[in-house]
Amino acid sequence: MKAYDIAIIGAGASGLAAAIEAKRTAPQKSVAVFEHLPRVGKKILATGNGRCNLGNLNADTHAYTNRSFARHALTEYNAESLIDFFESMGLFTRADGEGRLYPLSNTAASVLDALRFECERLGVQFFCDYKVSTIKKTNSIFNINGEYSAKKIIIACGGKSSPAQGSDGSGYPLLKNFGHSITPLAPALVQLVTDTAKIKALKGVRASAKLTLSTGGEAKGEILFTDYGISGIAAMDLSRFVCPDKKAILTIDLLPDFDVKKAKSAVFAAAKHNPGLGCEYLLGGLVPKALGTAVIKSALGFLPKTAKEISEESAKKIALELKGFTLTLKGTKSFNDAQITKGGADVRQFDAHTMMSKTVANLYACGEILDVDGACGGFNLAWAFASGRLAGKNAATA
Ligand SMILES: Cc1cc2nc3c(=O)[nH]c(=O)nc-3n(C[C@H](O)[C@H](O)[C@H](O)COP(=O)(O)OP(=O)(O)OC[C@H]3O[C@@H](n4cnc5c(N)ncnc54)[C@H](O)[C@@H]3O)c2cc1C
Repeated sequence: MKAYDIAIIGAGASGLAAAIEAKRTAPQKSVAVFEHLPRVGKKILATGNGRCNLGNLNADTHAYTNRSFARHALTEYNAESLIDFFESMGLFTRADGEGRLYPLSNTAASVLDALRFECERLGVQFFCDYKVSTIKKTNSIFNINGEYSAKKIIIACGGKSSPAQGSDGSGYPLLKNFGHSITPLAPALVQLVTDTAKIKALKGVRASAKLTLSTGGEAKGEILFTDYGISGIAAMDLSRFVCPDKKAILTIDLLPDFDVKKAKSAVFAAAKHNPGLGCEYLLGGLVPKALGTAVIKSALGFLPKTAKEISEESAKKIALELKGFTLTLKGTKSFNDAQITKGGADVRQFDAHTMMSKTVANLYACGEILDVDGACGGFNLAWAFASGRLAGKNAATA
């Protein structure tokens, strides 16, 4: 049976980062990475619409779930450290106005290449097309599928989201078999499914909005109306707050920078300015035309023919609707469409300073398999890289 010092299960962002950090910490130790897809890091290629938003300058202060657990990794391996980590492999980055980090090449493939070439340079051994389905520990040695052994194991299998990219949830049973608990799992950073009666004519319409859920949670940014509900960055961010079993009302503020008074003045002024204007054009200076029409219909129950029919009272109703266009939330799209998994291995059973299990010595976990998640903007890869590096360093040191 081939024996390794450190075995890493999963060659995604966190697994590759763990492998690099382990080898850099202890070059003499043997490190193997087991990946059930035919190639390593497939998901990285799909990130950031093929551009890979690999981190965020504000990740160390971002509101992750289980933030207090995540803090240590994100402080030790903060944005500066992440930039240096990639520069040490020859990959340079740039930040956009919101602190989102991208490779200077603007292609996700160059991020994956940097990671895998560094692994190869350091002598990490890859086993692709190799699914790990059982890990047993006997006399302090881990046995993988009855075929390989390792002194240390790092579980970096990701969650259940986007299974086409390898993360099919098969990492959870590996941890469960060691007595670890898994908190409830749900798709997140995923599109919202709503009642569509009010938005039937809006497919493809984009707007800038603030979204609020009646059960708690809000998000601001671009939204995209679809034939099933709402997509766009703000909708994806809000999905982290959706409780699958609770009915909720989604309120869309289409003029987040206006108060109701200012919105009413704008609507009434537009009506007064051109009384002969068709009402479908009335809100054209505030929101896209089709959305304006839907808002007026929802506010007044019908679409008046021309602007001269808009009274001050109607203008107020329209303004209130612009500030609070509501839809009934039915849920979210599935794990197949989700960027991340909400929930995961209970972080109370892991040491935040090392990523090692508190109950099974020399068993580590990192990345999305743990119950830590962040908003869109590079925060999830930042967590994957930081926690992977922390696990890799500690597995190689201890
Ligand atoms: C379309 C899309 C776009 C995204 N864009 C961004 C973005 O721009 N910025 C950002 O921060 N985040 C983004 N994310 C989220 C981010 O990709 C993940 O949070 C991150 O990849 C998690 O890293 P990980 O290593 O924990 O898991 P994964 O990247 O999922 O890697 C897990 C690996 O383990 C392998 N594996 C699983 N089970 C087994 C097993 N039993 N045996 C062997 N191998 C196994 C899988 O095949 C996979 O390669 C995006 C996600 C998606 C789906």
